[in-house]
Amino acid sequence: MQGYVLKEADYVEKVMAEDELWSIFSGMFSGRAVHDTSYKYGFFKSILDSIYSTDDNLVLTFDQLFYKFTEIYWNLILKYCLRQKAVTKNGRETALEKILKEAAGKKTGIGDICFESLPTEIKTEICHKVKMKCKENVVGALYGDSGGVLYAFSKRKEYIKLNPQVYAFMTKYKKILEKINYFEWAKFLEKVNDETTTRNLLNNLDTLTLRNDLSIYRRILFEEFEEHRCFYCGKELKRGEIHVDHFIPWSFIKDDNLWNLVLTCSTCNLRKSDKLAPQQYVDRLVERNGLMLERNPDELPFYKENKPREIYYWAKYNGYREIWVPEKEVVG
Ligand SMILES: [Zn+2]
Repeated sequence: MQGYVLKEADYVEKVMAEDELWSIFSGMFSGRAVHDTSYKYGFFKSILDSIYSTDDNLVLTFDQLFYKFTEIYWNLILKYCLRQKAVTKNGRETALEKILKEAAGKKTGIGDICFESLPTEIKTEICHKVKMKCKENVVGALYGDSGGVLYAFSKRKEYIKLNPQVYAFMTKYKKILEKINYFEWAKFLEKVNDETTTRNLLNNLDTLTLRNDLSIYRRILFEEFEEHRCFYCGKELKRGEIHVDHFIPWSFIKDDNLWNLVLTCSTCNLRKSDKLAPQQYVDRLVERNGLMLERNPDELPFYKENKPREIYYWAKYNGYREIWVPEKEVVG
């Protein structure tokens, strides 16, 4: 199917067993669905990394997706200097490479900065350009590669709506799908780049959207709650020594959602690292989020009480089996 020419399309409605879904995804990643750029891997990662940020109808807007997409390619192209297309005789670059290099060239030095730390208005401008250019081909191409089962989309209304069956499958096998995508993506990038730029490639792919700046969340959480105590051990928190922890590890969710962020002391944050906390802390998180919802529902869009419980379950299912137990709580 020549998906990229479509302006909009519905997903194919049929009941699919898991083996059929596996075969669809394998075909989607494999070399059989050849494109001369790496966009489909980047777009698939953008969807996978946003999977817990859909609205109640499983809709993701192009603004959401192309924000991730831009961040991914900003780092790939400018930080890791990876080509996204084989060298051609006339040395042509992809449209995306041109947009990002031009943006970086405008202000000297911004190419060295990670995307997240750019000023908001510059980020918005770059994302808009990338969206307008890439939505034309990328969205329909991945749709076509999936045989039309992955999502419905509209280029005019600028959204994709995930097929509920595919959504369930993707949340269940998130980590495995992520790894297959990286593997095929790395194979592609190794083909079109030389050895010096492809060192640490798989690792670099996995941390493309790493967010460093959680200070805005720290402020919200600190100001919302009078009880300034570590979420895990109860130790009193003093300004300047407060860490923000992804309750369900960032490496699984790949997104910063306020409902998943808690304030902790440095010891707990560092010791917990990439592990899960015991089940009773999920209940505590649900309770905390309940309070936040009462005070300011806008801060937790599309949040539901079962979200942390479900994702906690899926994280365990996807291999997060080590449970870190906090030290005995400090009382008083
Ligand atoms: Zn602590």
